[in-house]
Amino acid sequence: MNFRQVSRRMKSFMKGLSANVEDMVRKMQLPCLYPNCSEMPVECHSQQCNGTLSTIANDDGMVIVPSKDAKGSISRILDEIDLPRGFYLEHISRATIFNGFCKKHDNDLFATIEKVPLVVDNVDQVIAFHRRVVAVEVRHSLELIGYFKITKYMLEQRGLSSKSVEEEIYCAKERLRSIVSYEWNPLWRDNSQDVFHHVWKVLPYKIPVSLASSITPDFNDYLYTIYSQALGAFGCDAIPRLGFTLTIVPQEDKTHIIMIWNRLLDTLIQAFRDRLMSIDKSEVETFLNECVFCLSEDWCMNPDYWESLPQCDKNELQRILSMEVPERVKSIPRIITL
Ligand SMILES: [Zn+2]
Repeated sequence: MNFRQVSRRMKSFMKGLSANVEDMVRKMQLPCLYPNCSEMPVECHSQQCNGTLSTIANDDGMVIVPSKDAKGSISRILDEIDLPRGFYLEHISRATIFNGFCKKHDNDLFATIEKVPLVVDNVDQVIAFHRRVVAVEVRHSLELIGYFKITKYMLEQRGLSSKSVEEEIYCAKERLRSIVSYEWNPLWRDNSQDVFHHVWKVLPYKIPVSLASSITPDFNDYLYTIYSQALGAFGCDAIPRLGFTLTIVPQEDKTHIIMIWNRLLDTLIQAFRDRLMSIDKSEVETFLNECVFCLSEDWCMNPDYWESLPQCDKNELQRILSMEVPERVKSIPRIITL
């Protein structure tokens, strides 16, 4: 989730918080996400470093990523190539990291997608891909709620109203509750393969972009409408809030695209699923560009490909990145072409 659901006003306020607060957040010391594990988490990759990321990195092991969180990554902006504000070069050893699991559980849980070749529709691999993205969501949601609680505390200390922060805490908790109930808990059950549906497409060539992200369909105008109707009809707790997870794994001669969702969303996300699985290339292009650049902020791109993009495309990406997520899908860029 990161900070994409936080209001612009709140984002600027949070950016102004002192380094002390970041220290306080670090000291929250949340343990490994594996059930009942009390070990401290290591820096895990949501995208495999020696695999996905190294496949699209340049010779120096760098990829381009969007600057997306409120803590900012300005200090990491390098001057080596012409990057506008909002994107930066990141070494693959640092790209896509999050404090998810302890070393043992990070190794154990994802060996099936990191140590053995990918096999289309392999159930264990599908569950591992979904689990990794959902873990990022859970961790970031917990961190976000922690930030808000500190912000609330600070406002109250100064005698200021914390009403808007209380609303943000409520919304973040509700979303987390839904993710835990519909995605996280079922992932640990024996019948998890019955809870989730997926499609797994392989393109017969490498694309220069990788992704491991949740895609929330209520940010898409069309889906927002039917999603809202469903929420109205069945109640907020009856519909999974997360949408689906999308993982794009480029390899030397092919690209795996794996889309996974709670089966309760079969109808709601059918339009997305159909677009990905279409035999019409332009439909697949629309799906990829919308999901990667408009509905997520978790992509990595090959720096040489970035350099080869026309300036108008770079400007468009920068413009999209600066917009609130619901506004972004008005014009889908054509950065990935098939
Ligand atoms: Zn652990």
